[in-house]
Parts: sequence; structure tokens; C-alpha cells
Amino acid sequence: MSGILGVTLRGMEALPVEAEVEITGGLFAISIGGMPDVAVKESKERVRAALRSLGLNLKGRITVNLAPSDIPKEGALLDLPIALGMMKSMGTIKDFPRALFMGELALDGRLRRVRGAVPAAFLARKMSIPLYVPAENASEVALVQGVEAYYADNLAELVMMITGEEKPRPVPPAYIPDLPVNVETDFADIKGQSAAKHAAEIAAAGHHNLLLVGSPGSGKTLIAKAMAGILPPLTDDELVETLLVRSTLGLEMKPGRERPFRTVHFTASTVSVCGGGSNLRPGEVSLAHRGVLFLDEYTEFKRELTESLRAPIEDGEISLSRASGSVKYPARVLLVLAANPCACGYAGDPVIHCKCSQADIERYRRKLSGPIMDRIDLHVQVPRLTPEELLSFAARKQPENSASIRERVVRARKIQAERWKEYGFVCNAEIPEKLVQKCLTLDDSSRSYLVMMSEKLNFSGRGLSRILKVARTIADLSGDENIEKKHLADAMMYRQFYGRS
Ligand SMILES: [Zn+2]
Repeated sequence: MSGILGVTLRGMEALPVEAEVEITGGLFAISIGGMPDVAVKESKERVRAALRSLGLNLKGRITVNLAPSDIPKEGALLDLPIALGMMKSMGTIKDFPRALFMGELALDGRLRRVRGAVPAAFLARKMSIPLYVPAENASEVALVQGVEAYYADNLAELVMMITGEEKPRPVPPAYIPDLPVNVETDFADIKGQSAAKHAAEIAAAGHHNLLLVGSPGSGKTLIAKAMAGILPPLTDDELVETLLVRSTLGLEMKPGRERPFRTVHFTASTVSVCGGGSNLRPGEVSLAHRGVLFLDEYTEFKRELTESLRAPIEDGEISLSRASGSVKYPARVLLVLAANPCACGYAGDPVIHCKCSQADIERYRRKLSGPIMDRIDLHVQVPRLTPEELLSFAARKQPENSASIRERVVRARKIQAERWKEYGFVCNAEIPEKLVQKCLTLDDSSRSYLVMMSEKLNFSGRGLSRILKVARTIADLSGDENIEKKHLADAMMYRQFYGRS
């Protein structure tokens, strides 16, 4: 007895599953074995109704076995192979191509969109066999190069393709050009704030984590949001990684190379941010993979949540586990945090008086410390402008726009990708600790300058590494081959406000 091949998902990986069907005489009953979850068990009714829509009535005792039996089977994506397995067993279809089939069946036989089509396409490519998917999944499968894939709207159409009564409808491969980014918040519309804008540019160029501290109305949230418009385009590999996450969640694919930009509110649950739940789905930190995860009003976040972000921020991936096993999801995010300078919000403000006592301020600053803060490369203050400053900025020429900042960022990213290719990473923030000394060398005068400043400002070893990485990005932005004193000085400027770790 040979079955029909379908897939199930383990994390972002698709695994082949064989649906074997045996029909014997006796009273009508369907049983499904082989560790199916509730959704798979419910497929009995959907499959039965869908087959009835083709004029096929199931009779007798029907046993469906999903092999291998030691892998848990999840979701409705096995409807199609189960239905085809029944048709094979009934003799309705004699010859089946060796292929992967996936899709949920509606009661009228329509094929419904399923999650996991991108991982399934990778599996089909690896197995060198075709993949059949619901029409609604075709656009995402099209983004996987080198896979032979076909799509159908409903079961009847798919059957006619298999039997040769109708020509198969191949999924045409799609190539994604680097379209200009649709800039929603432009840096040209933000007055002043040159230090913060420069920090945002460095962060985007080297994928460095950034903290923006400023009073309400200073524009820190605006600066964070404007970062979306200066991020470099996703490379082919990065595009595939982000596709895998979205496909695993069953989310629509965006047809561009724009990096993800995900904003998390402080009321968000740890599961929604880090992933998990009974089905071990990825969370916001994985949806933001290769892009920005923005935490506004950072000091309002619960400790539990920020603690659980520590590992993914450090490792670039997140492990989730439950009794039946554990899965890993990618989570290489550029973390952007925004916070007020004190509890009342106006410490250091030129106009409004801060109402906090020294003890209040110290208590507040402690919230701005801890495991996440140790992983922030750039700290920058975003002062509220006085009315006088606003007027004088308005009189001056327009600030640089996001498109032109993005050009520099893209150039700097290319230099980094080329430099780190042999090490297997793409940007300066990714340089592992053990390679910092080896890969980020300084000439004698820059070295003694860094040593002198480090003694003066009491930087830790990790703090020094961060300065070196940021200085490397600053040098890349200006196209300089070596890290020089001026790059180091610039990098240090962004580490002096909050914690010198
Ligand atoms: Zn205050």
C-alpha cells in the first residue's frame, strides 16, 4: 500500500507525511491514526463533503494512516493528500505522479489557503518532486526559485490535472526587484535632531540596536518610525528567511524587499512577542527578523517580557519548547527602544520643569538598565526643541530626505556584506565577540586613543567591542577603509548617556 505525500510543519521546516488509506467492508466509519491533532481529525468531515461535491460517496470502514507515526501532524493542510488517498483507494484515480500535495478543503471542494507553503516548496525542491498547492498559496510559492509547482482552485480541477484531462497550471516564478521604499515618515520632515538622525543612520547601516531618550513631543517616536524608510533592501537570502516566518504563520506575502518594521506596545504578552503558545508559533521578534523591532515607552514594559527578549537579541534566534519537542525561529532584529528621560518626562528639558526628585530619577534610570540595555550599541538623547529653535530650523533649508540617507546606508551595507562574506554574516553588529579583536584592528595611534578614553570613561570589555563595531560602521558609511580616531570618537559619543557597560 503506497500513500499520497503531504507535509506537516515542525517550526519552519516542512516534513513529508504519507497518507495511506485502506477501505474495507462494513459499517461506515473513518478513523485517522498517526498522531493527528484536532484540526487533522476534523478533516474527516471536510474531506467527506468535498468528495461528495465530486459525486463520490464514501462507504465502508476507512482507515487513514499518517506516516511516519512518530511525528505530530498539525493543521488542515493534510486534507488534500487524505482526500486523494481515498480516491486512490477507491480506484477513482489509478496513476498518481510522485508529488507533494497540500491544501485545506472547503465543504464544496474549494482549496483553501494554508500556512507553510514556502517551507513545503523548499521540501519539494530538496526531494526533486513537484508541489501542488491551493491557488491562494501560489504567489508565495512563486518566490522560491527552482521549484516545480502547480496550483488549483478546487479538488475537481486538481484531479483533472492529475488525470491529464486538463493542462496543469504551473506557478510562474516571481523575481522581486528592489523597488523604492514607500516612505511614510521622512527624515526631511523632522526638524533639527541631527545627532539622533545620525545615530539612526548608523543603526540602519550596521544593524546596531538603538536607544532614543527624550521628553514627550521631542520626536523620538517619529525618528524611530522614519528608520523604516532608510533600511537597506532585503537580500535574496534574507528575503527567503522572512518569507519562511510569514508563511509559517500563514500571513500574506508582501511583494517587495522592504525590511520588516514591527512596533510592540508595552501591554503585549510575552507569547505574542517571543512566540510560543500551544502550537509553538513564532512571535513579533521573529516577524521582525532582519528588520526593526520597535519598543516605544520602553520603561513601561514588564520585566518578564524584556528578560525573555534577552536570548533572541543576543543569539539572533529564539528556541521555543513544549512536551513534544522544541523548535527554533530566527530573530535577528535591530532593536529600537524609545523612553522618556525620567518619570515625569521632562528631565533636562529647556522649557518645562522636571518634577522628579533625585531619588525618582535614580529609580527611573534603573529601569533603563539590565540585560537588554547592555545590548544596545547606540544611546542618543532627543531633546525637545525650544520654539526659538523650531523657528530657526524652519527658516533654514530642508533637512536631508530619507531616500538620500538610504543610499549611504545601502552602500555601507554592501561594503560589510563583501567584507564578512567568508565569515558567514552580513553586517557589523553580527561580528561575534571572539572575532572582534581579530577583525577590527586599529593602528597604534587610534589604539592608544581608545585605551586612554576607555580608562577615562570606564568602559567594560563588552562596551569596547560595541564601540569598535559602531566605529567600523561609521567608517563604512563614509567609505573609509580603516577605523580612525574620528570614527572612534563619534562611536563613543553614542555611549555616554545611559550606562557605560
Ligand atoms: Zn522628571
